[in-house]
Amino acid sequence: MTEQVAIGIAGVGKIARDQHLPAIAGHSGFKLIAGASRNARIDGVQNYQNVEDMLAAEPLLQAVSLCAPPQVRFSQARAALEAGKHVMLEKPPGASVTEVTVLAALAQQNQCSLFASWHSRHAPGVEKARAWLAGKTITAVNVLWKEDVRRWHPGQDWIWQPGGLGVFDPGINALSIITRILPHAFFLKSAELFVPANRQNPIAANLDFSDALGTPIRAEFDWRFGPEELWQIEVTTRDGVLHLAQGGKFLKIDGEVQDIGAEREYPSLYDRFFELISTGSSDVDVSPLQHVADAMLLGKRHEVEKFED
Ligand code: NAP
Repeated sequence: MTEQVAIGIAGVGKIARDQHLPAIAGHSGFKLIAGASRNARIDGVQNYQNVEDMLAAEPLLQAVSLCAPPQVRFSQARAALEAGKHVMLEKPPGASVTEVTVLAALAQQNQCSLFASWHSRHAPGVEKARAWLAGKTITAVNVLWKEDVRRWHPGQDWIWQPGGLGVFDPGINALSIITRILPHAFFLKSAELFVPANRQNPIAANLDFSDALGTPIRAEFDWRFGPEELWQIEVTTRDGVLHLAQGGKFLKIDGEVQDIGAEREYPSLYDRFFELISTGSSDVDVSPLQHVADAMLLGKRHEVEKFED
């Protein structure tokens, strides 16, 4: 494909402005022609109140990037796919695991590309970590994903509502990385969920996973942490320790800092979306969301103090 893909953005909020708009503006494969948001407007393009109005009024639109909270992902994606548009989903790809599989089938029926994006997988250390871990004997994995919810989600009510994931909203980024870099599939054995008395979703969670070999894989997510974030993954192997930090932007293997290049998560996501459209394919991996669903199934709930924004 040599021509630019005409794209629209739905849900013009924090992540659309911080990352999607600059990434699209800097990508030679895409041209932004419209936005769909109930309140926000994007300068220089046509703006609509919702996805349906955008689809009806913009016949030249070829692709849509969905950046609203996950609770509305399915209805927006279904409308776009039924209109024959390629669709990129922000993480998490849906409010339930099964609705994402329904979208994947819909994309196939309509011959559209569906991209369930996991931005943290595009951090510069991730593919190097995966390559180094391939074939290694892993003896333990420890994940610490801790940050201040007030810093990263000021005033966002949807994260506390059903489908909003609570602390799994950042925690799923860690899960998206370990599902990519670890050489074996793993599964949840037990979990503890710490839920504020006045909220629906956990503010912290401890998860114990294992794989078929019995490898202990521990993850601790906490939103009551700060002011500095702690986003790190440590994988102990018989050949040394791999240490991925800063959400995947820093990689140390066996004590040696690796040269992994600059961070370009969102430009890389749009490279991938363009590649999927060009090759007529889709990329829909629900495994990080599946682990969160398992945590909600298996997790022992502890009520903790009320959370007020
Ligand atoms: P946000 O700013 O709270 O929401 C994005 C926009 O979606 C809102 O400004 C709103 O725009 C629209 N929206 C909200 N509720 C809606 C509803 N019920 N129906 C239709 N539109 C609605 O959230 P965000 O931080 O950008 O996060 C959005 C998604 O990106 C989430 O899935 C999140 O996990 C993911 N993400 C966020 C970050 C981050 O740093 N914030 C990083 C990576 C990924 P209008 O009021 O104009 O409709």
